[in-house]
Amino acid sequence: MIFGIYIFLVGLCIGSFLNVCIYRIPEDISIVAPRSRCGSCETVLKPLDLIPLLSYAFLGGKCRYCGERISLRYPLVELVTGLLFLLAYLQFGMTITMVGSMCFIALLITVFFIDFDHMIIPNELVALGIVIGLAINVYLWIGGQYTMFFLSSKSSGIIGALVGSGILLLISIISSLIYGGQSAIGMGDVKLFAVIGLFLGWELTLLTLWLSFIIGGIIGVVLIFVFKMDRKAAIPFGPFIVTAAFVSMFVGSKLIFMLFGI
Ligand SMILES: [Zn+2]
Repeated sequence: MIFGIYIFLVGLCIGSFLNVCIYRIPEDISIVAPRSRCGSCETVLKPLDLIPLLSYAFLGGKCRYCGERISLRYPLVELVTGLLFLLAYLQFGMTITMVGSMCFIALLITVFFIDFDHMIIPNELVALGIVIGLAINVYLWIGGQYTMFFLSSKSSGIIGALVGSGILLLISIISSLIYGGQSAIGMGDVKLFAVIGLFLGWELTLLTLWLSFIIGGIIGVVLIFVFKMDRKAAIPFGPFIVTAAFVSMFVGSKLIFMLFGI
């Protein structure tokens, strides 16, 4: 259990780094070079101000220097990352699957918030995901084991990438033909599914696709009928895909068993 706590703390620190990535990648600012500053008064933050969760709690959610409120988003991203890392450790143990799932979690949390804020999924993140995904697949081939999540065969990840992004590309093309140039699904979503395919294999990728439409549909209905959102307003699809991918990764095998009895 001591190790679980350690993993959770590592997750908090990674989450703190993800906050930097979420803020800086769309702005094209280096994620390493400049020190973190207060978004309001631009004071360079001291190490004490950068302790995940705790500094937010101690400072009462306000900047130490100018008193400006700090977004609750920062501790939330840290906490979610810490909890998902802990869950990955508890579920997969100290395996390559755990390492892979942590890369996947960190990448997708970043995608979730950047897409939420800017309606884009940066190509750098997709490229990084494909490189790590391919590396894990190759590692598993060499080791002769494909037990990562649901990678059921040697080519499960590759098939997943092709099938996942292929289906979404098809939907994108068809919908843009129907609606005259305006596709319901962005190319970023199509590319993101190549990453998901590599990590989860084709079975869980299909489940992710299905779940993301269900989650997106439910949230869409709630937004339109409960919050009276404009029917034509564009909402980013990435957050639904990310949520569906996390559900698939942790409970997908059980879900498939429950749904199809295999
Ligand atoms: Zn400040």
